[in-house]
Amino acid sequence: MTHTRPVRRSWAEPYKIKMVERLKMTTQEQRTKAMQDAGYNTFLLHSEDVYIDLLTDSGTSAMSDYQWAGMMMGDESYSGSQNFYNLEANIQKYYGYKHIIPTHQGRGAEHFLSRICIKPGDYVPGNMYFTTTRLHQELAGGTFVDIIVDEAHDPNNLDPFKGNVDIRKLDDLITRVGADKIPYVSVAATVNMAGGQPISMQNMREVHALCQKHGIKIMLDATRAVENAYFIQQREEGYSTTPVADILKEFCSYTDGCTMSGKKDLLVNIGGFLAINDDTIYEEARNLVVVYEGMHTYGGLAGRDMEAMARGIEEAVQDDHIRARVGQVEYLGDLLTSWGVPIVLPVGGHAVYLNAKTFLPHLTQDQFPAQTLAAELYMNSGVRSMERGIVSAGRDAKTGNHHYPKLELVRLTIPRRVYTQAHMDVTAESVLDVFERRDEIRGLEMIYEPKYLRFFQARFRQL
Ligand SMILES: *Cc1c(COP(=O)(O)O)cnc(C)c1O
Repeated sequence: MTHTRPVRRSWAEPYKIKMVERLKMTTQEQRTKAMQDAGYNTFLLHSEDVYIDLLTDSGTSAMSDYQWAGMMMGDESYSGSQNFYNLEANIQKYYGYKHIIPTHQGRGAEHFLSRICIKPGDYVPGNMYFTTTRLHQELAGGTFVDIIVDEAHDPNNLDPFKGNVDIRKLDDLITRVGADKIPYVSVAATVNMAGGQPISMQNMREVHALCQKHGIKIMLDATRAVENAYFIQQREEGYSTTPVADILKEFCSYTDGCTMSGKKDLLVNIGGFLAINDDTIYEEARNLVVVYEGMHTYGGLAGRDMEAMARGIEEAVQDDHIRARVGQVEYLGDLLTSWGVPIVLPVGGHAVYLNAKTFLPHLTQDQFPAQTLAAELYMNSGVRSMERGIVSAGRDAKTGNHHYPKLELVRLTIPRRVYTQAHMDVTAESVLDVFERRDEIRGLEMIYEPKYLRFFQARFRQL
């Protein structure tokens, strides 16, 4: 590799390493065998056979010494744990909501919010769906309606805010079904399924104004809202000198509450919460949490888990932290782009998505290009990624045919504070290696297909 003079100062990791976890180095032969045994499905690999694990950034981040010290301060009283009050205080301080209910993870909060607010026959508009969010809305009898801008579906469109709500789509829906059939607008920041794309503050203000006019609430999926705030600072006029923490608070102020998976932005291995301003919804959620998760002052978490999350909030909103987190993802994306590897652009906040349709143009979608690419990448170097294409999309419940999604993607998801820049180099070099011999790569056929969420357990054979 040649080193050119940098044009700007690096985002280098704002921490040093105090404890390490060993990684197993494997041979090509071992990896080929492991991939065969796993039926060419990266979900079925044993994690000890994985060198660099980019399957997901959920619950896989590294905690700090400050968080680990907090773990030792766990107040494991059944009710009224001090750690709950610390968590509540930090959510109020940094996100600005009035009431909070801790839950075991994000979907616990989605469950309560959907159950309380959605009646059968309601419509829930959202800027693209997320798997668990939509499922809970549907289980409560609601119908999800996609109101994201069209640009979100185009992997080559360079719009800086591809997560935006299309105000006209939302307005049309309100006209068509009536405001009383819309319990709330579900806004995600950043949009995971669109490749980690942000929503602008301006767009959030417009959504807020329209919803105010019709008396409709806005509920935020705040799972990656800190990453979104960082993109606003970098890309939106008027915010370049505003701290990320202040941007986050302004952003949340346009919404009425949020569901949160602490396993992402908040740097913990487990935990989530529901935060809400409305007293009636809070009262109802406080009743439900006792049934499904635990007392309202622990919600399925140990005191130590709540403390780690309370401290995680303080670290997550630091400008130098979030700059390095997103900077690392962008570093990997920029390397691949400079080598001509097709990826979704702009690079999102938490992952780089390889465009498998362009990468392996000789494979038909029935030959599972993204599944194939994820398997090849693992066999090449031990890097584990995830398919986001036809396998993940599943089958149409009525016709039984495959859904044929527009995008065939392989997601390289970066855990926070876990891997170094050298790991990113190794990953990029491995992708390039596979790219250079892409013409020899054969597709797959499915030989076992489970009934539900097939991508987790399906098995394949090489053609
Ligand atoms: C992970 C995630 C969820 C669900 O959270 P869990 O903690 O996995 O239950 C919801 N929304 C988004 C955007 C997510 O990324």
